[in-house]
Amino acid sequence: MAVQASLRKLRTIWVERISREMAAGEGTRAGFSEQLERFYDLLEQTIITGDMAWLDPILYDWGRSPTETNLEQADYYVSFILNRMIALTLEISRDLLKPKEALELLAAVIPVLTHSLGVVIRYEMETRVAHISKELGAVQEKLQVLDQNKSKFISVAAHELKTPLTLIEGYTSMMADFVQTDSQAQMRSYLTGVNTGVLRLREIIDDMIDVSLIDNNLLTLNIQPMWISHLLDLARNEFKKSIAERKQSLTVNDFEGSDLMIYGDSERLYQALNNVITNAIKYTPDRGQITIDGRLLPGFIEITVKDTGIGISAEDQALIFEKFGQLGKEDLHSSSKIKFKGGGPGLGLSITRGVIEAHGGTIWVESPGYDEVKLPGSTFHILLPTRTEPTNPVMLKFFGSLEQKMETDLRGEENPPTDDPPA
Ligand code: ADP
Repeated sequence: MAVQASLRKLRTIWVERISREMAAGEGTRAGFSEQLERFYDLLEQTIITGDMAWLDPILYDWGRSPTETNLEQADYYVSFILNRMIALTLEISRDLLKPKEALELLAAVIPVLTHSLGVVIRYEMETRVAHISKELGAVQEKLQVLDQNKSKFISVAAHELKTPLTLIEGYTSMMADFVQTDSQAQMRSYLTGVNTGVLRLREIIDDMIDVSLIDNNLLTLNIQPMWISHLLDLARNEFKKSIAERKQSLTVNDFEGSDLMIYGDSERLYQALNNVITNAIKYTPDRGQITIDGRLLPGFIEITVKDTGIGISAEDQALIFEKFGQLGKEDLHSSSKIKFKGGGPGLGLSITRGVIEAHGGTIWVESPGYDEVKLPGSTFHILLPTRTEPTNPVMLKFFGSLEQKMETDLRGEENPPTDDPPA
């Protein structure tokens, strides 16, 4: 067979030229030549039999061989060698064979080499993808540990801070009782200042505890029948003073669905609504307008809190619900809860989302963007399921445990506890 004869003729030069061009030093060249000899044998077998499977084992070995350095530097070394192999085969055939022989040989060899290139690229890709997913897995594990540590830190720090805070609270109130006479008015105002600081600190610590409860899926809801209109009444009264202080106006509309009885933890839901309204006051300049409204949707009640404030850019809209997602500068942090742009620790919206999601609801924000001059404003949307029966998972858990408790109590009545030692 003419092709076989041509192959035999080219062999030595082919191996030598490719290994000279591709292998860097003498040491690697010997090993590489051996590999090329093996490849050449299998190439001959493939051409004789017409069965590409002959080359599979060596291509598999080559495709899986990239070193860690190759993988990290994204070098496609083996496919590069096969590419050069095709070009050198063309050159060597042209130099050593007659045109007809060269044509016949190339017609047989090139399809095999291009097939081999395709196989090697696939193996190289698979090796690279496996390497990248291994690296991603390791990074993800590290991030998880980091997140757990962060959550643990918040929880430990909050609990540790609570004890000294209780002491400070106790002593300041004792001192305030002690300072009675008018001559000590100055001292009384200092103590009021300390008290305000202590109160704010307690709120921050409570927020830290809430965040760690939400992070660890430990938030328990006290599910009771409730009405959104009650939350709106509370808000109307509570924010009167802050709104007056900031010369803003607050409109709270009753809406269809606000007087529907639903099941929820009214205290937690008010905490969530309170956070959103506090932010609306905080991020709206003096004389701005805040409107609370809502509507009844199939299966849901929607509450909206709209302000005429500085707005939120599209990219930040996704971040603000994450813990510590505050976007303001640290120098804007303020001990006042309602000062314009007076940033807090950045836990409010993360707790708000945690509480609403625990109720099976959802929260999102709409804003044309951030602009402190044009004041495009923001609208926060809160969607709560209008379940008139305690059927959501949290509620089921609550009512499940309630039922269990009642059952135990009932059983307890049938078999009253005795002082007898256990059998
Ligand atoms: P913070 O304690 O900083 O107020 P939050 O979790 O309550 O933390 O809010 C996160 C960030 O979202 C805020 O720092 C602020 O940048 C932005 N933000 C929240 N509500 C509004 C709003 N109504 N208008 C503009 N920005 C807001």
